This record gives sequence, C-alpha cells and structure tokens, in this order.
Amino acid sequence: MSELVNVSEIFGEDVFSDTVMRERLPKKAYQELRKVIDEGAQLTLATADVVANAMKDWAIEKGATHYTHWFQPLTGSTAEKHDSFISAPNSEGKVLMEFSGKELIKGEPDASSFPSGGLRATFEARGYTAWDCTSPAFVKRSSTGPILCIPTAFCSYTGEALDKKTPLLRSMEAINEQALRILRLFGNTTSKKVIPSVGSEQEYFLVDRKKYLKRKDLIFTGRTLFGAMPPKGQELDDHYFGVIRERIGSYMNDLNKELWKLGVSAKTQHNEVAPAQHELAPIYSEANIATDQNQLTMEAMKRVAINHDMVCLLHEKPFAGVNGSGKHNNWSLTTDDGINMLDPGKTPHENKQFLLVLTAIMSAVDKHAGLLRESAASPGNDHRLGANEAPPAIISIFLGEQLEDVVEQLLNTGDATSSIKAQKMKIGVSTIPDFRKDATDRNRTSPFAFTGNKFEFRSLGSSASVASPNVVLNTIVAEAFCEIADELEKADDFELAVHDLIKKLATEHFKIIFNGDGYSDEWVEEAERRGLPNIKTTVDAIPELTKEETVKLFEKFHVYTRAELESRAEVQYEAYSKAINIEARAMIDIASKQIIPATVKAATMLANSLSTVKNACADADVSAQEDLLKETSALLAETKNALAKLAEVADIASAMEDGVDRATYYKDEVLSAMAALRSPVDKLEMIVDKDLWPMPSYGDLIFEV
Ligand code: ADP
Ligand code: MG
Repeated sequence: MSELVNVSEIFGEDVFSDTVMRERLPKKAYQELRKVIDEGAQLTLATADVVANAMKDWAIEKGATHYTHWFQPLTGSTAEKHDSFISAPNSEGKVLMEFSGKELIKGEPDASSFPSGGLRATFEARGYTAWDCTSPAFVKRSSTGPILCIPTAFCSYTGEALDKKTPLLRSMEAINEQALRILRLFGNTTSKKVIPSVGSEQEYFLVDRKKYLKRKDLIFTGRTLFGAMPPKGQELDDHYFGVIRERIGSYMNDLNKELWKLGVSAKTQHNEVAPAQHELAPIYSEANIATDQNQLTMEAMKRVAINHDMVCLLHEKPFAGVNGSGKHNNWSLTTDDGINMLDPGKTPHENKQFLLVLTAIMSAVDKHAGLLRESAASPGNDHRLGANEAPPAIISIFLGEQLEDVVEQLLNTGDATSSIKAQKMKIGVSTIPDFRKDATDRNRTSPFAFTGNKFEFRSLGSSASVASPNVVLNTIVAEAFCEIADELEKADDFELAVHDLIKKLATEHFKIIFNGDGYSDEWVEEAERRGLPNIKTTVDAIPELTKEETVKLFEKFHVYTRAELESRAEVQYEAYSKAINIEARAMIDIASKQIIPATVKAATMLANSLSTVKNACADADVSAQEDLLKETSALLAETKNALAKLAEVADIASAMEDGVDRATYYKDEVLSAMAALRSPVDKLEMIVDKDLWPMPSYGDLIFEV
C-alpha cells in the first residue's frame, strides 16, 4: 500500500505560481509582472532583478543549486543546459548564490546543434532563449538534484523562431485579437482577453525494463521492428478500462504525485485498448501552459517508469498488430472572465454568436484541412492514421446529431428554429436514477469532433508536442474570425448580416462535416467525391507548410515568416529521413547479428536431429524434421536476401542529399524493403525454439509487465 497523499497540500508545491509570486515579491514588482503576464508589455530590468532574486531564493529553499532556461527546440522535445547559481569565489574562497534579472530574461545557448532547417548556418552559432513569463517557472527533480526551470522561447541571432513555443505564443496573440473583435460585435465589452484552452489526453505503453533492454529495436527506435503476433492480442477488449494491475497502479500513483507537485492537474487514468497501454489526461489549461505541461508529463512518465523498473514507450506504434498511441488535443476558446466561446448553450439554434463561431471553425478547417493534417504528421504517426485505430488521414468535422441538425436547418431554410433536446435516460431499473443524457453521441473515428463545448483533434501522435496543432488551430480560426469581423464591422444591419454570414459559411463548408464511420472504405470514396484531401504520409503532408496560402495565412498574423515555414519543412524532411534510416540500420543490425545466427543454430539443431535419428533408426519417419529444416532454410534464405536488399537501398538513401527526394526514397523504397525483411523473420519466430530466439516476444512484452 502506498502512503497517504494530501493532494491539495502538494499540488503546485514546485511551481513559482501566482500565489508564490504574490507572497514573495514586493507589491509593486508583483503588479508590474502581473501586468506583463496579462496584458503583454516590457518588464523593466530593475523588476526583472527583483523577480530573479525571489525566484532564486525560493528555488534554493527547494534544494535547487542550478537553474536552466527550459525550451522546446524543433526536435519536438525539450532542452536544458544547467547553470549553477554560484558566483566566482571571493578572496576567502567563498561563493555566493546569485541570479540576476539579465540571466532570467535572456540566455545564450550555443544554437548550432539544434535543428534550424537552414535558418542558421552551423558557424552562426548564436541563439537566444528569452523568458516566457506567461508560463510559470518550476523546480524539476531528478538525479541531478532539483533544478529551477525557466520556460523560454528560443530564437536565432536574426530573430527567427527556432522553437515550437514562439509561434504558439504568436498564434495565441492572433486569436486573442480576432476573437475579441467577434465578442465586441456581439456587445461584449467586459472580456479583456480570449485564450485558447487545451487539454491533452496522453496515451502510453509500459514494458518491463529487463525485457526492453533485450530489444535493440525498442532501444534504438522506440518501436518493435520485428515480432510475430502473440496468440492473444486486444481482440477480447478486456484491457480497455480493465482493473489496473498493482505494478501499474503504483506507477500511476507516483506519476500523479510528481505531476501534481509540478502543478500539472493529472485528472484521469485508465487502461487503454492495447494490452500494456494506458492513458492519462490532465484538466485543461491555457494553450502555452498545456504545451509545457504535456512535455513535462511525457518526461515524468519516462522517468517514473525507470524507478519502477519499467520503460514508458511514447512511440506512436510500438507494436504492429495492436493499437498504437495517440494524443487527443481538446481545444476551446475561453475569455478571461470565464466565457467559453464554444459553449452552444441549451438551444444552439438561438445562439447566433455560437453559430457564427462554429461556422467560422468549419470554414477554417475546410480551407486548411491539409495544414491541420500536417500538424499531426510524423513517421511514427504514419502507422496509425488511416489504419482503423486512429482517425483517417482525411480531415473532417463531427458535429453530432444536435448541431448537424441545426446546420442542416440553416442550409435548408436559411433559418434554424429548433434544437434537438437532450433526452432523459431511462435504464429500466427502478433503483437507478434517471438522468439527462448528452444531446449527442460520440464518434471515435472522427479526427475533429465537437464534444459538448470544445473540439477534440484526435489525429495527433503520442510523442508529438501539442504546439504545432495548436499553432495551426489558433491561426486558421483567427483568419476566419478576421474575415468575419471585417465584414460585420461594416454591415448596416448587423442581425441580418450575421444571419446571412452563418448561412453562407455553413453552405460553403458543409462538405467538411461527416458524422459517419471514418474507418469505412465508403468514407474514403465519399471524401474524394467531396474533394477533401487524403494525405496519407508525412512526406506527402510536409508541402502543406510552404503552400502559398499557408505562407499568406501565417505571415498575415505574424505567426511564421516564409523563412520560418521553409525551415520547418526542411527540418521535417530531415527528421523523417533520419528516423527511417535509424530503423533500417537497426533492422540490419538485429537481423545480421541476432536473428540470422539464431536461425542458423536452429537449422543446425534440426539437421543434427535429422541425422541422429536416421542413424539410430534407419526407417524412422523424419519427415517432420525434414519439413522444418526445409522451411527454416527457405526463410533463412529469404531473410538473407531481404537483408541484402535493405542494406542496398539504405546505402543509396544515405548517400542522397537531404530534402524531399531523399525522404520520398525512404518512404517508397526503404520502408518496403524493411517490410520485406520483417516478413520472413516474423515467420521464423514462430518455428525457431523460443530459447534460441534472441529477444522477448510480443507476448512477453505486452502481457508480462
Ligand atoms: P474523453 O476521453 O471523454 O475525451 P477525458 O475526460 O479523458 O475525455 O478528456 C477530456 C479532456 O478535455 C481533458 O483533458 C479535459 O480537461 C479537456 N477539456 C474539457 N473541457 C475543455 C475545454 N473547454 N477546452 C479544452 N479542453 C477541455
Ligand atoms: Mg478523448
């Protein structure tokens, strides 16, 4: 049994939160900082000094000896370089613990080894990290001891964003400005700020560490590159929401405590569909904070797993044949005074502001479907999208019965006059209370589903940063709001203009609405008829970033410059090629050094058995040994040939210059050579003695945690 936890006591104890700032900062400094956080302005250096000093004292009390500017480079994970607080020793050889406003505000890590996609040549190493005071600083605990982490944005010497955070913050400013215009048009004079809210549900696998260490594929690539299906997979649906086993429960318990201390409001936990798969969801928060916290969550998931002698796999597809892991990005727009702009109310047909927001989102997603799809693209996620375990690669919107009915009324008659009401639920057992069910059922197959008062973007891969999809969502919706506001601000008859605009947008973009089964083949055909893009792979998705309409969109709202977009495309091609190259090299390594030798041993044993039995008893039936030997030898030959072919194409790919052609070659040639190698090896696993097989099987990995 684990010890009792007082959650309200430990929650946020390692965060330099608003409460801590209010307590520890002189009133004037606190007020100045608060104003910067809420309204955006420049902090004076004098105040920065005061804040830095308070932050340092607080961190030292928590045991911190170092601080770091914590940032989110284009690798998709986080980066940190620790600096201790110590000053140069004085004449008596004593050191002081110091931290200045300058050090808080600006850092200068050597930027040359972070991906920049040509934004900066390697010899131009300068890069800056700049304090993002809108995300709270925190103390992170690991084997290095407690470290004061200061969330920062990371940019080049010339001011281009080299990270995922800066564009996110820019996109939040864009949507704030445009959403406020909409609110003002509807007579709201009180809300000061509109903030995108994000709640990211995180799926993950846990495997035993000792077994993990015997799988070079997991070690090098995060996923299994070989592996026959175990006798049982997920077909019984007995893992989903099943009783959480003791070892996993104790892991979840520790993980929650770590996250709560960091101010991450870990809320929901459950077993997922695949054996050994689980999920954690926090309570939603402001998009930038949610992005930081999701990174911290992924990091903590891995760290805590090691303490439990397990490894947390965040790869999108660790095991072929069973579900992979995704991340659902729940998104809505909330004002500083607590209004959710995506709340339809009880009678959405009467809620004109909501209908306008809804149709704006329909138009944004329809116009930029390819770009939204791109924001979920990664080599790992290519295994999931469209594979009947995650939404298809075709972007569409699920509205649910109630809203679809309202939108259909708009289309048919130009007016919506009723809303389907939530019905009373009667279960038919007198002791179970009646309750009101939701106005709409769910749809698990939709990539972008309306779920009551938010949209859930369900295409993301489990290891992805949530920054990119939220940059896209914020900006495309900002654009739609901007166009609407431009029109309505000059309308003579506001009511009539709103009415006409809702109808126009709903009609023009109705094709993006799909409430049916997103996994079906009919949908693929139907989507094609509707002209919706079906972008199957990352390599096919990347060009969306540099399309003229994308560049125009992002430049208009100052979220990305053309150069920043081009650099991101370049980084993504490169990352794709590297990921597949590592997988190919790992397969070559494992097949040559582990699988072929084990198979040779197995064949030798069979041959020995054959001759031994024959010698002992000339007329014994040795057909089984013969058949097995033939089968093993044939598969061995197939393996050897496939290995040679994979080595050949991997070498060709390695010799190519980085960019689209190389990534395309990896996608078309290397991936298929990898599949051709995997096929005989997985068959061999089923006939070679388990004691000889050089690595734990799928069954060992996912059922014996
Ligand atoms: P489900 O599995 O039914 O989708 P969960 O409760 O697991 O639901 O996750 C829903 C996620 O959506 C949570 O992270 C929750 O905090 C978040 N969420 C709820 N309301 C909003 C909102 N208005 N904006 C953004 N996220 C929200
Ligand atoms: Mg969900």
